Amino acid sequence: MKEILDLVRENIRKLTPYSTARDDCKIKMDVYLDANENPYENGVNRYPSPFQQELKQRLAILKGIKSENIFLGNGSDEAIDLVYRIFCEPNKSSALIISPSYGMYSVAADINAVDIIKYRLEEDFSLDAKKMLSLAREDTRVLFICSPNNPSGNLLSRKEIEYAIDNFNGIVVVDEAYIDFAGSTSLSTLVAEKKNLVVLQTLSKLYAMAGLRIGIAIADSSIVKIMNSVKYPYNISCINQQMALSLLKEPFKIREQCSMIIEEREYLEERLRVLPIVERVFKSDANFLLVKFIDKSTVFKTLTDNGIIVRDRSSLEGCANSLRITVGTPEENDRMLGILYGLSGTEFSPRGKNSDTERENERRAILSRETSETSIQVALNLDRFSTPFISTGLHFFDHMLEQISYHAAIGLNIVAVGDIERDDHHTVEDVAITLAQAFDKALGSRKGIERYGFSLPMDEAEATVLIDLGGRIDFEWEVEFSNAMIGDVNAQMFNHFFKSFAQNLKCNLHIKAKGENDHHIIEGVFKAFARALKCAIREDRKNAGIPSSKGKI
Ligand code: PMP
Repeated sequence: MKEILDLVRENIRKLTPYSTARDDCKIKMDVYLDANENPYENGVNRYPSPFQQELKQRLAILKGIKSENIFLGNGSDEAIDLVYRIFCEPNKSSALIISPSYGMYSVAADINAVDIIKYRLEEDFSLDAKKMLSLAREDTRVLFICSPNNPSGNLLSRKEIEYAIDNFNGIVVVDEAYIDFAGSTSLSTLVAEKKNLVVLQTLSKLYAMAGLRIGIAIADSSIVKIMNSVKYPYNISCINQQMALSLLKEPFKIREQCSMIIEEREYLEERLRVLPIVERVFKSDANFLLVKFIDKSTVFKTLTDNGIIVRDRSSLEGCANSLRITVGTPEENDRMLGILYGLSGTEFSPRGKNSDTERENERRAILSRETSETSIQVALNLDRFSTPFISTGLHFFDHMLEQISYHAAIGLNIVAVGDIERDDHHTVEDVAITLAQAFDKALGSRKGIERYGFSLPMDEAEATVLIDLGGRIDFEWEVEFSNAMIGDVNAQMFNHFFKSFAQNLKCNLHIKAKGENDHHIIEGVFKAFARALKCAIREDRKNAGIPSSKGKI
């Protein structure tokens, strides 16, 4: 594998980048007489932050990565163009791209006079990395992979992608514009070890900011530095930076939208698959479906005549007669289905209002807790599982908190920004407090719940967790670890986490575990804890109040 700098075009390597007026100004000044701006304030009279530090810091927290690994562009389209400009010699270099895929990889290559080599994905749109790499030439400098792929919608095999990264002698761009809809982990955490990897993400899709034009490239800091030196100095306006920052302060609204979009995708897939005018609905891990029709032209025209626009992808390889349909709101989806069912001569029964009422009745809580040491946000849904979104800055702790969501089958999102540079104490404790308060709020009067939870010992770790949500407070902990640290968390903080949780939820919590491996022991505890919670929070119509022989608690 070549060194990254050896892959960079010589003129870029030698470039003295334009230095903006504010590059070196790390401290906030009072008077700005350096950039020939109009001094009369109107909100936009100053140049924007050239390297968008504040926005990057927020994104770094949300994505569990370092801000030095983030480049922000005017859409990810800017990052795609920059990759060509930095790594490819016009009229000399080539790029390898998958096909069918997002059109900008080849348009940007044409603009930069870079020859394109296309690897046709397999029949089912899967990736055979070895076969793809066999097409690379001596002059092939970059490789573009899109996963989930546009327009096919499928997530490509991580193993195959990693094989390509490890075996391609150039830059590998993995475009993850749709990764949030895939319930799969991003490759972005690999950039520290895989120096030739550039992961693209964007605020245009799930994050609902297509109008702001903010794309994200995640890569080794040496690549980010070069991208920064080649981009236009002020490539993202201050209004766009501010608006993105303020929209990112509501990460949970987006997570809820994500699970609604995924549910709608599945609903659409089911409803479309049975239609006689549909030949095939391809499996999607994105927010759209590629649908092969018997006669796509009639479908396209009928939809357009009724004011609905979808994307005709039939000219792309492997996409004959196929339209790409973006998942809309439930009303929009039903309106489209109604038209397609009409065209098929099949009766369409739109969903009832039940689904809305069901959502309204779910036991949910969103809670924030701000102290001088931490800022914690927790969103909890006791009645609907969704892929957990957890970011506390402590990777091992995140992994444990995810267990609660998976094993209690609840929706759980946590974003915590704490003083972890000092130690993990405040973050772990305050997450426990806020999480317990969220449970308390979501459980409401606790009427109708099963109250007790227990779990059987788990094979490897022998963890047992008993819980009583009746309102009495007691905490017992019989767990011993061999090491002071487990991952990046102090082992003794787990006792403190559960104790704070029990006190704040007002519950009895007895935890016992033993084993040989600390990671297994604590993972067993979190899983057993989640299972116990799952039993205890369950509602049963036979329970008039909180079950108690006293009749009153
Ligand atoms: N990558 C893929 C796979 C896309 O489908 C799109 C837009 N349709 C983009 C990137 C562009 O995203 P942005 O709006 O950030 O330029």
